[in-house]
Amino acid sequence: MGLSKTIWANPSEIIRVKAPDHPVLVCAPTVLQATARRFLRGFPGLVTYAVKSNPDEMVIQNLVAAGIKGFDVASPFEIDLIRRLAPGAALHYHNPVRGRDEIAHAVKAGVKSWSVDSMSELDKLIAMVPTAGCEISVRFKLPVAGAAYDFGAKFGATPDLAGQLLGRVAAAGFIPSLTFHPGTQCTDPMAWDSYIRTAAQICTDAGVTAVRLNVGGGFPSHRTTQAAPALEQIFALIDRVATEAFGAARPVLVCEPGRGMIADAVCLITRVKALRDDAHVFLNDGVYGCLAELPLMGNVDRIEVISPEGLLRDAAPVERVVFGPTCDSVDRLPGHLPLPGDLAEGDFVVFQGMGAYSAGLNTRFNGFGAVDTVTALALHG
Ligand SMILES: *Cc1c(COP(=O)(O)O)cnc(C)c1O
Repeated sequence: MGLSKTIWANPSEIIRVKAPDHPVLVCAPTVLQATARRFLRGFPGLVTYAVKSNPDEMVIQNLVAAGIKGFDVASPFEIDLIRRLAPGAALHYHNPVRGRDEIAHAVKAGVKSWSVDSMSELDKLIAMVPTAGCEISVRFKLPVAGAAYDFGAKFGATPDLAGQLLGRVAAAGFIPSLTFHPGTQCTDPMAWDSYIRTAAQICTDAGVTAVRLNVGGGFPSHRTTQAAPALEQIFALIDRVATEAFGAARPVLVCEPGRGMIADAVCLITRVKALRDDAHVFLNDGVYGCLAELPLMGNVDRIEVISPEGLLRDAAPVERVVFGPTCDSVDRLPGHLPLPGDLAEGDFVVFQGMGAYSAGLNTRFNGFGAVDTVTALALHG
């Protein structure tokens, strides 16, 4: 796809000129590249991007242009996508459960970095993956809070099992590494502290030196009107704790942000289809579309309402029930949203911070789900 031909100034210009009836995702490449450079400059190790958070080709191309050289992939589709758009990039196949057909596909594509969290899946890798220059990272988990929801519920070995897996990885001749994910939208940096210290303990107990430690995604995005997350503070904590915990045996660090990289580079323009009897707002997008994550993440206070003339609605807020367009009663945004009292049918509701887990989760349920993606210089105004 590449850069779209028209580069808009901002959302209100799109609204004035196009009055779009379908939801529109607006990406600002300047914001995305600035975030990528912030990671590259600040993170004390290799920065990779978790493709699942937003696999749009324009997003991948802008990350490559900004200097991102590695990608966390989870499926043959994502492997092929990155091989096509960034042929020289490193692929980290960090979905710890794979079918044998998927393993064969990845071996053929030259994947050299894998993760694992169980003996049965490690058996498959040992049987099918050539050892030369190949890294296997053992994924472990802790029962720590701090994130929006618990990633450990699906993946990750206990520290005990992780030690056994690490020993087997090394004995089989692979490069032994460790990896974890503190949970998405992790606003408590102390989660990284606990995970990194546990990683060092796993290595000591197993008598294995980990070559790399991948500290996951989980870097928070700006979800609410409260202060934007201070990524640099998290980077500094990771750097300090890695040295304290590992000393001279400090592994090379890797991170794989999804949300923290892309969320704030994209906003979503939706339209008010109806204001039913002055009570309920019906939007043309909802939880089966690009707003799929809203009930989980509660990103409900970085919202602006713009009139078809491109003017910001600014009357005192009124608490409204907001529904999506489908006929399912689940298709409702959480609680009540404070929306300007002068909101009218045909207005546009703009949600900030919508780059992650939006387009990728959009469905065609009930015949809705047509979404355009465009580029703009700015996401506000
Ligand atoms: C989803 C995922 C990520 C990205 O997580 P974010 O919370 O979006 O940063 C990173 N690593 C792995 C293995 C994942 O599955």
